[in-house]
Amino acid sequence: MSGDQAHPPCPSCGASERSEVRLEHGPHWAKIVCAACGRHFKFVPAPWTLRRARAFTMPYGKFKGKRAGDLPADYARFAADTFDGGPGIACKIVCGLRAADPSGP
Ligand SMILES: [Zn+2]
Repeated sequence: MSGDQAHPPCPSCGASERSEVRLEHGPHWAKIVCAACGRHFKFVPAPWTLRRARAFTMPYGKFKGKRAGDLPADYARFAADTFDGGPGIACKIVCGLRAADPSGP
């Protein structure tokens, strides 16, 4: 469930309650829907936990295919400063340059 109440009412039914629905299959981690009518609002990215960051597989670079948690420290720091998106985020968390998200439910 989402505790965030700072959003406009549902354009379909006017309700203000929203629900977070965990998606077990497919590319998305979860979605936010209207609690009353089920209208879709947005998908929710998976939280960047320390566990996820360490297990992240580098998609390119010198250590392509290696887990971020297994990278040499100097390379992880380089990747954290250089790469955007998932690889950069994973390496920032592994290096302690970014706080990990709280674990999901
Ligand atoms: Zn609605």
